[in-house]
Amino acid sequence: MPAPFATVWRAFEAWALPSTCLGCDARASPDALLCLACRALLRPAPSAPVAALQTLGVAMHAAFRYDGGSAPLLTRYKFHEDLAAGRSLAALSLPVFRDATRPQALVPVPLHRRRLRQRGHDQALGLARDWGRALGLPVLVDALHRERETRPQTELDARERHRNLEAAFRARSGLPAHVALVDDVLTTGSTAAAAVRTLQAAGVARVDVWVVAQAPAPGEGDGRTP
Ligand SMILES: [Zn+2]
Repeated sequence: MPAPFATVWRAFEAWALPSTCLGCDARASPDALLCLACRALLRPAPSAPVAALQTLGVAMHAAFRYDGGSAPLLTRYKFHEDLAAGRSLAALSLPVFRDATRPQALVPVPLHRRRLRQRGHDQALGLARDWGRALGLPVLVDALHRERETRPQTELDARERHRNLEAAFRARSGLPAHVALVDDVLTTGSTAAAAVRTLQAAGVARVDVWVVAQAPAPGEGDGRTP
């Protein structure tokens, strides 16, 4: 006999709307996903734009500062397949993108297939799907393709990062004139810049960048201490 609807619904609710905080074990209201203390750790994004993107004439929208407050949740989402953390970050970031100029579509920064196999999920695609659903925007999964696997950007210095990303992406033709590129974190912006250049070369007139968190510029603090 199938389980009564109410039982199935409660199980779904517990899965979709955890009542304990995702950042600690305190109780959180079902719509907040984070308790007030953990929510307070998420600070606004740095106001200084990322230099690598500024030169490309890109409008950047980041919900939070990438620091000791946001990093644990982002790490759980990216490397530990904690999809609840991802949904929480997507939901908490949403007001920033609601206020942004509306693009015609969202383009997630693609992962290389091998990286995807190692990690088990695609963090940029997950965010793009959540934001696309909430804002009624299409998500163009096939807009960008990762041509070759790049080394993790965190292992490289700035010049190596640039070389690492040259020709890393290929764009399909027939893309809309205005898209928002979606990723989880902006640090140097070199990955996003490579993707933006590829989209612009493919004829996209306006590329905005939407991320959950942006790292502070060098000199703006190490991003770890509040
Ligand atoms: Zn908490």
